[in-house]
Amino acid sequence: ESNNNIVVDRVFGNEESKPIPKPVSTFEQAFFNYPEILDEITKAGFEKPSPIQCQAWPVLLSGEDLIGIAQTGSGKTLAFLLPAFIHIDGQTTPKEERKGPAVLIVAPTRELALQIDKEIKKYHYRGISSCCVYGGGDRKLQISALRKGVDIVIATPGRMNDLHTSGDLYVENITYVVLDEADRMLDMGFEAQIRRVMYSIRPNRQSIMTSATWPPGVRRLATSYMNDPIQVYVGSLDL
Ligand code: ADP
Ligand code: MG
Repeated sequence: ESNNNIVVDRVFGNEESKPIPKPVSTFEQAFFNYPEILDEITKAGFEKPSPIQCQAWPVLLSGEDLIGIAQTGSGKTLAFLLPAFIHIDGQTTPKEERKGPAVLIVAPTRELALQIDKEIKKYHYRGISSCCVYGGGDRKLQISALRKGVDIVIATPGRMNDLHTSGDLYVENITYVVLDEADRMLDMGFEAQIRRVMYSIRPNRQSIMTSATWPPGVRRLATSYMNDPIQVYVGSLDL
C-alpha cells in the first residue's frame, strides 16, 4: 500500500481551470457535513478511505468531473456512490416531479451492474431508490421498475440504449453520469451505444469515468463527454 503512486491532474486543463480540491485522509474530513453518510460508513466497518476515495470525494463533492484510474478492488464504487447520494439529496426538484432518474451508472456486465445495485441498496440513505437494467433480464419488469420512478439507474450499454430508444429510459433529467470500467466497455464494443445515450444527456451534468487503463479510446470518450475532468491515477510503482 505504501508503494502506491498517486498522480492527480487536469487532463486537458486551461487558464480557467479551478485549483484541484485537496484530498482528505479520513471519512470525517470528507463527509463532516453529512452525518448520515458517516453513520453508514461506520456500519460498514471500514477503517479508512482507500487512496482513490481520499482523492475522489473532495473532487466529486465540489461538482467536478473525474476520471478514476485504479486497479480492481481499490474502492472505486464507493468513491462515486457516496457523492451520488449527496448529489441526489441536493437536487432542487422534488423527486416526485422529476421524470426519469437523476443518476445513471453504466457498467460493462450484468454481474457488475447487479453488484453496484447491491452496494447502493446496502446504504439506506434518505430513501434513495435504484433499479438495474441489463441484457438477458426481464425487459417488462425493468420497464415497470423504471415507471415507478427511481433516483439511480444502473445499466449495461446494450439494454440502456434499447430502453432509451423505446422511450422507457428518460435521460433528460440525469445530472450525474458514471461510466464504470470504461476501458472494458470499449473493449466489448459498446462505444456506439454509450455515445448514443450520452448525446441525449444534458451537457452540464457531472461525469465520472473509471478505468483500469488509459488507452486512446477512453481518452477520446473523455474528450467528447467530460468537462475539464480531473484525473486521479493510483498505480503501483512496479519497482
Ligand atoms: P473497484 O471498483 O475499485 O474494483 P470496489 O469498489 O468493488 O472496487 O471495492 C472492493 C471492495 O472493497 C468492496 O467489497 C468494498 O465494499 C470494499 N471497500 C470499499 N471501500 C473500502 C474502504 N474504505 N475500506 C475497506 N473496504 C472498502
Ligand atoms: Mg469497480
